Amino acid sequence: MDIKNNILETIGNTPLIRLNKVTRNFPCTVAAKVDYFNPGNSIKDRMALKMVEIAEKEGKLKPGGTIIEGTSGNTGMGLALAAVVKGYKCIFVTTDKQSKEKADILKAVGAEVIVCPTNVAPEDPRSYYSVAARLAKEVPNSYHMNQYDNLANRLAHYETTGPEIWKQTDGKITHLVCTAGTGGTITGAAMYLKEKNPNIQVWAIDVYGSLLTKYFRTGEIDMGEVHPYISEGFGEDFVPKNYEMRVIDHFEQVTDKDGAVMARRLAKEEGLFCGYSAGSCLQGLMQLKDRLKKDDLVVCILHDHGSRYVGKIYNDQWMMERGFLDVKTFKDIVSSRA
Ligand code: PMP
Repeated sequence: MDIKNNILETIGNTPLIRLNKVTRNFPCTVAAKVDYFNPGNSIKDRMALKMVEIAEKEGKLKPGGTIIEGTSGNTGMGLALAAVVKGYKCIFVTTDKQSKEKADILKAVGAEVIVCPTNVAPEDPRSYYSVAARLAKEVPNSYHMNQYDNLANRLAHYETTGPEIWKQTDGKITHLVCTAGTGGTITGAAMYLKEKNPNIQVWAIDVYGSLLTKYFRTGEIDMGEVHPYISEGFGEDFVPKNYEMRVIDHFEQVTDKDGAVMARRLAKEEGLFCGYSAGSCLQGLMQLKDRLKKDDLVVCILHDHGSRYVGKIYNDQWMMERGFLDVKTFKDIVSSRA
């Protein structure tokens, strides 16, 4: 018999899928690690489970306790699944920039969700960082996971994502391309892969409005770089402790528009119905295409599923309102069908 004991046993071991059309002008093979195959529909299930397991082991999370986290949704989903199976409560703090679908999904799996304003500084008492930290102090028997600075985050990718990619490519991977937020995915996977082969190039994809790229290049925390952006799930306005910049070779920034347009292409041309950051990841790779050679084997990590973005990047009206999609006239529609 092959019966999983619970949903958590389905986390990880996601497929690596060759891209055939969006990368047709590339000199080499590009494969996508499609992590929406995780039960919570994102890569974050991996680190959520690891953070819970380590908090249990260290006695920080006790039976019947409450998990507190500042999350844009995907980490929350992973934590909520672990909480359902292991018997914890969850309170998540998120921002008003995130899709409403994401909060509704978290509530569906039993979590309480508190929405905070996006455009306030992290140290502002209204920010989701501050509210999460305050709740952790006030709610009895609770533990703030803090995915940004909790090194269980990158450890999950060092132990699972990196080894899976190494095995799935028979050790032939030459480039890892990945959007960077908390830094857990790219740092953990890169640490493992570079231990196996230090020549593997690791490219982080960032968004304009995030300070990570400038920090990587200059070591400077330049708040002048920070401005609101529309892309979701990656880019930061501070540098989380999960980063180990020495395992990253290059940072590339993409625009909100280019990431959104590329996500739609991934769905239409590859049948990969992914989230915003997956489009941004591919777009970043497109911008770096000229650095690649014939025998390279590129792996890009696609973090989450498109269903959470149906009201956004997959909605024509939403795209047109932001200037991401040209408004089609009746004449355009007729001529495109001719
Ligand atoms: N894309 C999405 C959709 C995410 O939820 C996240 C996690 N914030 C990332 C990319 C970036 O991953 P990481 O936090 O591991 O850097």
